[in-house]
Amino acid sequence: MLLPRIEKSIAVLVCLLAMLAWLPAAQAQPVLNLYSARHYQTDDALYANFTRQTGIKVNRLDGKEEELVERIRNEGASSPADVLITVDAARLEMADKAGLFQPLGSAWLESRIPAAMRTPNWAAFSTRARVIVYHKASVNPAWVQTYEDLAAERLKNQLCVRSGAHPYNLSLGAAMLAHHGEAATEAWARAVVANFARSPKGGDTDQLKAVAAGECGVAISNSYYLARLMRSTKPEDAQIVRSLGVVWPNQKTWGTHVNVSGAGVIKTAPHRAAAIRFLEYLASDEAQAYFADGNNEWPVVQGVSIKNPALEALGPFVADALPIGQLAGNTALAQRVFDRAGWR
Ligand code: FE
Repeated sequence: MLLPRIEKSIAVLVCLLAMLAWLPAAQAQPVLNLYSARHYQTDDALYANFTRQTGIKVNRLDGKEEELVERIRNEGASSPADVLITVDAARLEMADKAGLFQPLGSAWLESRIPAAMRTPNWAAFSTRARVIVYHKASVNPAWVQTYEDLAAERLKNQLCVRSGAHPYNLSLGAAMLAHHGEAATEAWARAVVANFARSPKGGDTDQLKAVAAGECGVAISNSYYLARLMRSTKPEDAQIVRSLGVVWPNQKTWGTHVNVSGAGVIKTAPHRAAAIRFLEYLASDEAQAYFADGNNEWPVVQGVSIKNPALEALGPFVADALPIGQLAGNTALAQRVFDRAGWR
């Protein structure tokens, strides 16, 4: 009985030595610690491609935006975080205001990303539009050509939209503030609330489903949720899409509101060079195409060719030209205005 036990111990020892022999090699591989609040499975391919190109391993920590920001703050100077990537200008602004980011200082990023799509400390890498969707059988598209139209009395009990506290709506409110000022935006928000078919609940896809089901006539949604349904192979999704009409809002005035997905380098990044390289990769033609083809977003870099049948079917549109930094700066006020208007 003694011999097998010794053999077992030797086997364990051999295993341990083998693992130790691997350690220096593992440490030698350059790494990037990415804190991600993007919630899309297709991003795996985007990051794997970066590792393939650069040899830099991406250690990804997924979490909700607020949790990740809190975590980086708590970790302080010893935080392993190199990059924070997230969706929504307001959240990027919040992270920046919390002092999390350092200046990007990359001439490549400045040459690739339009000035309106970046700030000194963070950059946008993709955009998504906030579109108006209507029930084709019951709503005249002429009634819903602008965000301002959503306040009209004829849409009483027709409108479905998610919570006013959600960053996607706060960013829209921030754009309204930039174009109309505080008093007019509050009056608009009150009228929008008065048109609700039901209390806000669920995400954008739930609003699309509610329109298809006839629970409401009109909804507001991010374009990529719609594109996702358009590309779905499920018959029930195709059924939803068939019943919906889509409007690019405000084509004759200030353009359709767009929000962004973006990232910044953490002030205490242990791997700053890798972090900048990662952001530069996100602005490459190849990565930009991933955003479009994988997650139905639009590239921020001009002239990138994309192959996305849903985005093609939605067609071209005029986007709001408001600089993203200015938009982000308005979101705190948008929250106060929506609170006063009762958009919970
Ligand atoms: Fe989303």
